[in-house]
Amino acid sequence: MEPIYEGKAKRLYTTDNPNVLRMEYKDDATAGNGAKKAQFENKGRMNKAITLVIYRMLENPPGRKKVSILPLEVIVRNIAAGSFSRRMGVKEGTPFKKPIVEFSYKDDSLGDPFINDDYAREMNSATEEECAFLKNQARIVNDVLIDFFKQAGLTLVDFKIEFGRLAEDPSQIVLADEISPDTCRLWDIKTGEKMDKDRFRQDLGNVMEAYEEVLSRLQNKLSLFPPSHGSRSFRRPPFFILPHS
Ligand code: C5P
Repeated sequence: MEPIYEGKAKRLYTTDNPNVLRMEYKDDATAGNGAKKAQFENKGRMNKAITLVIYRMLENPPGRKKVSILPLEVIVRNIAAGSFSRRMGVKEGTPFKKPIVEFSYKDDSLGDPFINDDYAREMNSATEEECAFLKNQARIVNDVLIDFFKQAGLTLVDFKIEFGRLAEDPSQIVLADEISPDTCRLWDIKTGEKMDKDRFRQDLGNVMEAYEEVLSRLQNKLSLFPPSHGSRSFRRPPFFILPHS
């Protein structure tokens, strides 16, 4: 069957239900907006498994529902690294007083530029109310994931998440897309070793070994949590759904 969409890391297929899509994770790795490319056996399988563990942790059943992805990347940073360090000249590893939440506009031809809420409004990407909602949700995801990764011996340095409008009701915005070592920076708490896509970006080697280790640590930790562990600030759906105004 032909995919209805193929991106750098995923393919989407239709199903019998018009509101449900099947997502296939590719083994391709890209960095620098596609400038650097490689393939890693099992990367797709591992990113899918890690995403599923994380969505279970967030008590947010992984979306098989069809969404139209907002053209915004929501990035949360706890520690300086990557483009923040390059742009601001701040040494990698410098912790922030409070998490930073920022937006990029999803457009490869423009290089996914850094934008603010006013740009998002003027580009009709999201209303002001929706931007505030996205940032608030991203902070809550950050709180939950910091704790979860910490218990797996990992520091959550930063991550990117995406949100989509439900096809069946576009006023509803839900967390969508993968959350994996492709989209998070994760450092081993004890050694400081990078356990994420920076191993590929910076040619550090053992990329899949690091992903495998992340998956196995997360699976071990998840098994310790009862199905509903009532973790602090997050609750089951419709937690991730923008309330009707
Ligand atoms: O490159 P930068 O420092 O802005 O990335 C911040 C975080 O967002 C990193 O965890 C990175 O893996 C993730 N990211 C992503 N997809 C992008 C851009 C950044 O997953 N297109």
